Amino acid sequence: MNKNIRVRFAPSPTGYLHVGGLRTALYNYLFAKHNGGKFILRIEDTDQSRKVEGALENLIRTLKWAGLEYDEGPDKDGNCGPYIQSERLPIYRQHALDLIKNGNAYYCFCTPERLDDVRKKQTELKRSFSYDRHCREIPLGEAEQRIAAGEKYVVRMKVPLTGEMTFEDAIRGKVTIAYKVLDDQVILKSDGFPTYHLAVVVDDHLMGITHVIRGEEWLPSAPKHLLLYRFFGWDAPVLAHLPLLLNPDKSKLSKRQGDVAVEDYRSKGYLKEAIVNFVAFLGWNPGDEREVFTLDQLIHDFSLERVGKAGAVFNVEKLNWLNQQHIRLLSDETLAEMFRPMLEVKGIRISDEAYFLRVIGLLKEKLTFPQDFGEYSTYFFEEPKTYEEAGIQKYWEPETSQRLTRLAEVFDAVEEFSHTAIETVMKRLADELQIKTSKLIHPARLAVSGKQVGPSLYELMSVLGKETVVRRLRAASKAMKTS
Ligand code: GLU
Repeated sequence: MNKNIRVRFAPSPTGYLHVGGLRTALYNYLFAKHNGGKFILRIEDTDQSRKVEGALENLIRTLKWAGLEYDEGPDKDGNCGPYIQSERLPIYRQHALDLIKNGNAYYCFCTPERLDDVRKKQTELKRSFSYDRHCREIPLGEAEQRIAAGEKYVVRMKVPLTGEMTFEDAIRGKVTIAYKVLDDQVILKSDGFPTYHLAVVVDDHLMGITHVIRGEEWLPSAPKHLLLYRFFGWDAPVLAHLPLLLNPDKSKLSKRQGDVAVEDYRSKGYLKEAIVNFVAFLGWNPGDEREVFTLDQLIHDFSLERVGKAGAVFNVEKLNWLNQQHIRLLSDETLAEMFRPMLEVKGIRISDEAYFLRVIGLLKEKLTFPQDFGEYSTYFFEEPKTYEEAGIQKYWEPETSQRLTRLAEVFDAVEEFSHTAIETVMKRLADELQIKTSKLIHPARLAVSGKQVGPSLYELMSVLGKETVVRRLRAASKAMKTS
C-alpha cells in the first residue's frame, strides 16, 4: 500500500455531472482507495464565462449520492486549499511571473484584432490557427514599460521551436508529440485569471498529486503540462488518459443521442450501485467473467493496468441489466423503504409488514426499475379492478368460469396453501377435468391478479393466501359469467 498516492477529480462546474465525468471521478476514487491514498476534489472554474449558478452544489451532491466521498475538497479541508481555483488567483499569477523571470514565458500584447488577422491569413493557407509568436522576442524591460503604461497583456509559455516531447502514459504507453505542433499557449489571461494549463499544473504540484487520471480529450494538452513542469523544475505526476466514451454507433457520446447527465439516469430510477458498476466498466474490466460489482468490490479489484485504450461503448441495455442485478442485491427491508412511498401515492398503506416483505421477495427478481414495483404489485394490496382484455380474449373459454369456481371449492377444502400444495391441487383438478393445467393456470392468474403475466402463479397465490385467492377466483368467475 502506498499511503502517499494522491489523485484528484478536477471538474469545471458547468451545470451537471456528465457520465464521463462520473467515470473519471470513479476511477480516481477507486485508484486512491485501492492504494490507500487520497482522493481530492478540485473545482476548475477559471473560465468565468462558463460559470453556472448552483453547478458546484449540484456536482458535490451527485458525487456524494454516488458514494464517491472525497478526502479533501471545497467543503473538506486538507492542507492544500483552497480547492476552488478562482480562490487561488495570486498563486497562479506568482507562478506566471516566475516563468517570465526564468525566460520560459513572455508577455504578449497582441490585440484580438491582430490575432483575428493572423487567424484569417492562416485559414486562407488552410492551416489551423497557432499564434505567430509575434511578441516572443520583446525584451523584458520593454514589455514591463508597456505594462506600466497601461497596455493590456497576456502571458504565454515559450514552447521550444524544435524537438519533441516523449512521455509514458500509464494507459496509452509511449506518446510523442513534436513541439512544432504546440502553440505558445496563453497561461495568464488579460483578466488576471490563469488558463486551465497553468492552473492545472500549479495545483497538481502544490496539492501533491501523484497520478493524473482524466479523459482522453486532455491528451493533446499533456506535453504543454509536462513542459511547464520542466520549466518550474518540478517532477511530473504519472499521467493516465482514459479511453473515449462512445455511442453504440461508435460516435463520441453526446447529448444528441441520449442522456449524458448522471442526474437524468438517477431520476429515471437507476440505482447508484448500478450506475457506478456500469460506469466502472466503461474502459475497465476485471479480466474475468464477473460483471456485477459493488463499490467495495470495485475498490478491491481496480487497477489502471486493466484500463483499455479502445473507446468504450455506452450501452443502455447493459445498464438496465445491471439495474436489475443491483435491485436483487438490495435487502428486502431496504427495498421496502424505497417502495413504500410508491404505494402511498396510490393510496395503499401497508398494514402487514411481513406480508409486504414477502411480496417484495417475490417481485424483486422481476424489476428493472424500482418504480416497476408500484405498477406490478398493486393487486397484492387491493382487489384487481379490471382483468386485462387481451388475456380474457386469449384464455377465457366458455367453461372457464365453471372451472375456476371448482378450483375455488377445492382450494377452500385444503389445509395447506404452500406453492407446492397449490401446484398439486391444480394438477389434480386438471386431470380430473381432463384438461391441460395451463387451462387453469392462465385464467386463474387473470382472476387473482387481473394480469396476464407475473411471477410464478403458485408462489403468487401462496403469498396472497387462501382466503384472498378463493374470493378472487369466485369474483372473476361471476364477473365473466355475467359479462
Ligand atoms: N477541468 C478539466 C475538466 O473539466 C479537468 C482536466 C484535468 O483533469 O486535467 O475536465
